Amino acid sequence: MKFATKAIHAGQEPDPTTGAVMTPIYQTSTYWQREPGDNKGYEYSRGTNPTRKALEDCLAALENAKYGLAFSSGMGATDAVMKLLAPGDEVITGNDLYGGSYRIFTKIYANYGIKFHFLDLSNPEIIRQYTNEKTKLVWIETPTNPTMQVVDIEAIAKISKEKNLMLVVDNTFASPYLQNPMDLGATIVMHSVTKYIGGHSDVVMGALMMNDEDLYKRLWFIYNACGATPGPMDSFLVLRGIKTLHLRMKAHCENGRIIAEFLKTHPRVDKIYWPGFTDHPNHEIAKKQMRDFGGMISITLKGADLKETFRVAGSFKVFTLAESLGGVESLMNHPVSMTHGSIPKEVREAVGVTDNLLRLSVGVEDVEDLLDDLKQALS
Ligand SMILES: *Cc1c(COP(=O)(O)O)cnc(C)c1O
Repeated sequence: MKFATKAIHAGQEPDPTTGAVMTPIYQTSTYWQREPGDNKGYEYSRGTNPTRKALEDCLAALENAKYGLAFSSGMGATDAVMKLLAPGDEVITGNDLYGGSYRIFTKIYANYGIKFHFLDLSNPEIIRQYTNEKTKLVWIETPTNPTMQVVDIEAIAKISKEKNLMLVVDNTFASPYLQNPMDLGATIVMHSVTKYIGGHSDVVMGALMMNDEDLYKRLWFIYNACGATPGPMDSFLVLRGIKTLHLRMKAHCENGRIIAEFLKTHPRVDKIYWPGFTDHPNHEIAKKQMRDFGGMISITLKGADLKETFRVAGSFKVFTLAESLGGVESLMNHPVSMTHGSIPKEVREAVGVTDNLLRLSVGVEDVEDLLDDLKQALS
């Protein structure tokens, strides 16, 4: 089945007891047992719930994976992956990560004896230099947040496989509509479902998708044992959001392109980060592994200090100044004070996350209104 059909139907058979076409919200924590152990496949909703199961099957289908697991947040999903590791293990990851990923690696898992190497993965060969017998996992994000660097998933997957390392790809920014890392050799795809997949800024959720049955069982064990699993109402909302993922993504990409082109020549804009530009340093890789370039754009304001950047950030009327991304509404984010506040100044500035950087999540409003808003705020 093609993407749009899967988005609308995967995992969602009419309800067997009533024929309801939409998956019901099974708002129950527990399930009747005929006698101890004799049940209908559901025992307790931390571990299994029919609404969440329908969502997980749909999520797996969107990433061309066999198995899906939904978590109560993207960070909950990341946490479950890290629990596959043991003290002494080493992880190779990028040097431009979502702030929360950097935080859980350095402030939580480093304390449990796991060692992280934050590398510039624009040359995947660097992975070989940092791999030893303790290395277990490679964690990448592409495009990165917020400077939109693109790394070559297929090349990294090849080296990971050769070295017997699990490759996890945080596919949040691209969404499954633009990029499918499983097809390029990833072991696990991770999503903050909160963003494009949910799409309406009304749910916080995460997901993992994978093909390996043994790995699925190990992750399900962690998911059930540790309990960061979402409830049925949120699962329902995300199932509903996914039905328009393909329509929304088309509109995000269209508006994103128009706005990126407008900003590129704007006199107040210094740097602009959007992988659709032919002069973006990783444009060729983006073209190879993504179907389009999305609606995430970062800019730096020419000659602006923190105060001036705050003034501009506060003067939008259609773009809403807020953390997060991927919803139908356009959002404006100031990474240094918002999403990336937990990253030390030297670390973030080394990858271009400076005080005058603004990140736009271009929504699906009428693009004329978005352009007018940018014009007035930048003037
Ligand atoms: C938001 C985000 C996360 C964390 O997800 P939550 O749902 O907020 O816990 C992880 N990675 C990326 C790229 C994100 O944008």
